[in-house]
Amino acid sequence: KCDANYVPLTPITFLQRASAVYANRTSVIYEGTHFTWRQTYERCCRLADSLRSLNVGKNDVVSVLAPNIPAVYEMHFAVPMAGAVLNTINTRLDAKSIATILSHSGAKVFFVDCQYKELADKALSFLNGSVPSIIATIDDVDTPTGVRLGQFEYEQLVQRGNPGYTGELVQDEWDPIALNYTSGTTSAPKGVVYSHRGAYLSTLSLILGWEMGSAPVYLWSLPMFHCNGWTFTWGVAARGGTSVCIRNTSAKDMYRAIADHKVTHLCCAPIVFNILLEAKPHERREITSPVEILTGGAPPPAPLLEKIESLGFHVTHAYGLTEATGPALVCEWQTKWNKLPLQDQSKLKARQGISILTLADADIKDLDTMASMPRDGKTMGEIVLRGSSIMKGYFKDPEATSRAFRNGWFVTGDVGVIHPDGYLEIKDRSKDVIISGGENISSVELESVLYRHPRVLEAAVVAMPNPKWGESPCAFISVKMNSKGLTSDVKESDIIAHCRKNLPSFMIPKRVEFMAELPKTSTGKIQKFQLREVAKIFAVS
Ligand code: ADP
Repeated sequence: KCDANYVPLTPITFLQRASAVYANRTSVIYEGTHFTWRQTYERCCRLADSLRSLNVGKNDVVSVLAPNIPAVYEMHFAVPMAGAVLNTINTRLDAKSIATILSHSGAKVFFVDCQYKELADKALSFLNGSVPSIIATIDDVDTPTGVRLGQFEYEQLVQRGNPGYTGELVQDEWDPIALNYTSGTTSAPKGVVYSHRGAYLSTLSLILGWEMGSAPVYLWSLPMFHCNGWTFTWGVAARGGTSVCIRNTSAKDMYRAIADHKVTHLCCAPIVFNILLEAKPHERREITSPVEILTGGAPPPAPLLEKIESLGFHVTHAYGLTEATGPALVCEWQTKWNKLPLQDQSKLKARQGISILTLADADIKDLDTMASMPRDGKTMGEIVLRGSSIMKGYFKDPEATSRAFRNGWFVTGDVGVIHPDGYLEIKDRSKDVIISGGENISSVELESVLYRHPRVLEAAVVAMPNPKWGESPCAFISVKMNSKGLTSDVKESDIIAHCRKNLPSFMIPKRVEFMAELPKTSTGKIQKFQLREVAKIFAVS
C-alpha cells in the first residue's frame, strides 16, 4: 500500500473504461429507453456531482428502495463516485424492517421508486422524525407517473449535475462501497459491509468463473438489491455488456425480454425455474440461442436442473451468501462429464462446487477443533471460507463480526461434504440437519427426491420431534395442478411410496403435509423455522 504505484482497486474503473472503449454500445435497456456507455458514464458523473453538492460524501449511506431499473444500476457507480456507500433495500420487506435498516444504517439519502411510495411512507412514519435528510423519488424513466415523495426527484438530480465531474478519488481500497442487510433467514438482519477492493475482486472472479465473454446481454431477473446483483452490476460494465432492466420477474416479462433483446446471460434463484417452467403457452417464447443461467441462493434440485435445461437454458450452479459478496463457490463443469447420462450430469451440477478465484479456500471443519474433515463425499463438516470475497464485517457490530470468523475462516452456518474430486456439496444449514436415531439426514437430499415426483411443485423437509428416534423427517409439499386444474388427487401415500422407491427407510418422511404454497422469506427462500413450528404441533397431536 505504501508503494509509489499503489492504485486502489475499485469497480468504478470498469465504468470509466467502458465509457472510453465501448462509448456507443448500448449499456442499459429499459422498455423504450436505451442508454450508451458514454451516456451512462455521464449520467453517473452528474448524479455523483449532484450528491456532492448536497453535501453527501465519504462514508455517508445512500439507501434505495426500487426494482431493477436503470437508476439503481447507475447508483452502483454514482454513489461510490461521490465517496458514499450504497445500501440497496429489499423491496419485499415490510415497512418496519425497512425502517430498521434506515435507522441502523443512519441513511443520509433515501431514494424511493414511485412504485414503492406507500411502503416508504409507512417505513418513514416509524422513524419518529429521525428520517434521512434527503429523500428523492425515482419516477419511471419510460412512463413518468408524477408520484412524488420528499423534496427531490432522481432525474432532476441527474440533470442538474456536472457531466465533467472528475470524482472523489478512492484513497483506500478498503473503504466501504456497499452495505447489504442479510435477509435474516436464521437470525436478525445484519448489515454486511463490502469494500471497494472486495467488490472489484469478486466481480472479476465471477465474470471469469462464469466465463462471461465480451458484450453479454444480461437480463436483470436477479434483484440488484441482492448482494449488488451478485456483483454483475459492476461485471456487465467490465465486459462492456448490456443490462436489460425489467420491473417484474414474471414469466411473460422474462420470456419477452429474452426474445426481444437476445439475452445471453441471467442469474436467478432456483425458485425462478418454476416461474419459467410453469409459464402459460401464450407467455412463452422460444429460446433460439443459448441463454446462460447462473443459479444459487438455495439448493437447485437435480430434477429441476434437468427440466430447465430441456427448455434450452444452460445452467451453472453457484453457492454463496451475503457475507461472501454473493457466489463464493461455482460448480465448474468438467468436459468429461458431457458423456454421462443426463440424470448423472444434473446430480453433479447440483453440487455447489469449487472456490471462485478470489476465495483463497473453502473447507469443511469440525468447529470445536477446527480440524478439516475427510474429503470422502460422506463425512459432514461446517463449511468455512476465507479470501478476498468475504465481507469487511458487520456494520456497527464488532461482536457479531468476531463471532462470524474463527482462526481467519468465515463460518457459513452451512453443513456439507467435500467429494474426493474436491467439489463441495451442501447437505444442509447447520440448523436444518435432521438427526434421527443418531443418523444425520440431509433435508436437501430428501427434498431432491421429492422434486422427482412429477406432481411436486415445492418441497421442504424439517425435523419433527419423535419419542423413539429423537427427530424424524416431516415433509411439506405444494403440488402442481393437473390437466383439470386440480391439486387434490395426490395423496400422502403416493409421496411416501415414491420415497420408499428412492430412499433408505430411515429417511422416509413420517408425515407429509400439503400446503397451497410454502412460506417464504423476502428473498424467496422457504422459511423452515415456520415449518418446524408446525411439525412440533404434529408431533404432539
Ligand atoms: P440469509 O442467510 O439471510 O438467507 P443469504 O441470502 O446470504 O442470507 O443466504 C445464504 C444462504 O443460502 C447460504 O448460507 C446457504 O444456506 C443458502 N445457499 C446459497 N446458495 C446455495 C446453493 N447453491 N445451494 C444450497 N444452499 C445455498
